[in-house]
Amino acid sequence: MATPVTPPRVRFAPSPTGYLHVGGARTALFNWLYARQTGGTFLLRIEDTDKARSTDESERAIFEGLEWLGLNWDEKVVHQALGLPRHQRDANFLLETGAAYRCFCTAAELDALRQEAAARKDSFKYDRRCDLLPRAEIAHRVQSGMPFVVRFRVPEGETEWDDAVHGRIAFPNKDIEDFVILRSDRTPIYNLAVVSDDIDMRITLVMRGDDHISNTPKQILLYRALGTEPPHFAHVPMIHGMDGKKLSKRHGATAVADYQKEGILPSAMVNFLALMGWSPGGDRELMTLEEMIALFSLEGLQKKAAIFDTRKLEWMNGQHLSRISAMELEPRLTPALLEEGIATAEMLESRREWYLELIDLLKVRARTVLDMVRQAAPFFAGEITYDSDAVEKQWKDRAATAELLHAVQESLAAAAAWTPESLEQALRDLATTRGVAAGKIFQPLRVALTGLTVSPGIFEVLIAMGPELTNQRLRDAYEFLKASAV
Ligand code: GLU
Repeated sequence: MATPVTPPRVRFAPSPTGYLHVGGARTALFNWLYARQTGGTFLLRIEDTDKARSTDESERAIFEGLEWLGLNWDEKVVHQALGLPRHQRDANFLLETGAAYRCFCTAAELDALRQEAAARKDSFKYDRRCDLLPRAEIAHRVQSGMPFVVRFRVPEGETEWDDAVHGRIAFPNKDIEDFVILRSDRTPIYNLAVVSDDIDMRITLVMRGDDHISNTPKQILLYRALGTEPPHFAHVPMIHGMDGKKLSKRHGATAVADYQKEGILPSAMVNFLALMGWSPGGDRELMTLEEMIALFSLEGLQKKAAIFDTRKLEWMNGQHLSRISAMELEPRLTPALLEEGIATAEMLESRREWYLELIDLLKVRARTVLDMVRQAAPFFAGEITYDSDAVEKQWKDRAATAELLHAVQESLAAAAAWTPESLEQALRDLATTRGVAAGKIFQPLRVALTGLTVSPGIFEVLIAMGPELTNQRLRDAYEFLKASAV
């Protein structure tokens, strides 16, 4: 492949017609990583020419999504719609140089031609009839105000490029119809707007989804006709769901914001997205943004579709959670605890040290911030609900469990001190006295304290909970068992 021009200028060019899709975010990330690694420039262009579908809200969602992921852009955001006069100038230039022509065919005429082709079992390609009109006739039609579109006259030959992902790709020009570049209302068609903007923004590498491969020969023809050498291209693979079909809402959340709401960390999201079509080599998976910047390369881009596995995302999030400090995690967890009514801001501030220790305790077992919220709840005053599976498994015999928890409460009360060592001693002594394995005591106790079967180590739980809340939880469990025994 030819060496890309340095320093590169790349862009992310979303259409603001929905939310920030994970596929778009992935494409943005690759461009961003490339720019940051090469000392290049990462630009953001909002492709808002489709006035009917573009909304400010969706534009905001794109900004917020990129900001949340930490993908900052350089220079001012470009709005494609504002480029209209330039798009029109470029179309006029192509008309003047003879690279394009006016087409007066109406939609009905084109439909008829399409049907004729279908009847002959031919694929339809515009037959250039308007290009063959005498000059005087064209002038007359224009003067009388007859509507026209501008079509690009596709030359003979072949259009090829050296794609950074796919290698050489070539399209015979005879398969490309004389495509429209300007509508009769003088608004540009996508291919013209993109090329005109990319030239204006001095883009050196276009990295985008491989669903755009079929647009690329048309765009290359436009670059040349506009007197500019085309940029380099890298077409990255589509993202598929676990069933191998193109990722859609059927597979679950496809908006970046949904994962943010579910408690995925931005560092985990970008790590996961980076592996959607790129590999740093070897079996390396866990990376920070800085590491990804250092490792990113166009050579590491893959051709085959990437598979979006949400379980893997959660696993990765768990890994990132356990690696960041309680201090960093605190601003993400606190709003969720407040929102769920589990704690108040005063409560967390007055016991800040305890709170940070609790975060350290929980983060290693959680996959998402919401998991942490669920696991944190038992450590705050307020009722807990007992997980029904936990009850079925660990509290099978209600009366015996009530009696056991009673004995546990007495042992804990008699422990020399509320320290892990003394508490462990007390409970192990109890196990010995009763002639049962310690686990037969720890598991039912865990359910009583947390409502769950999984939690940090039982002594860590007891320490974090403190004697008062522990007693409260044991009394509540006792009540629950008595009530459900009858
Ligand atoms: N607006 C186009 C899209 O969202 C971008 C195309 C391009 O990157 O050239 O697919």
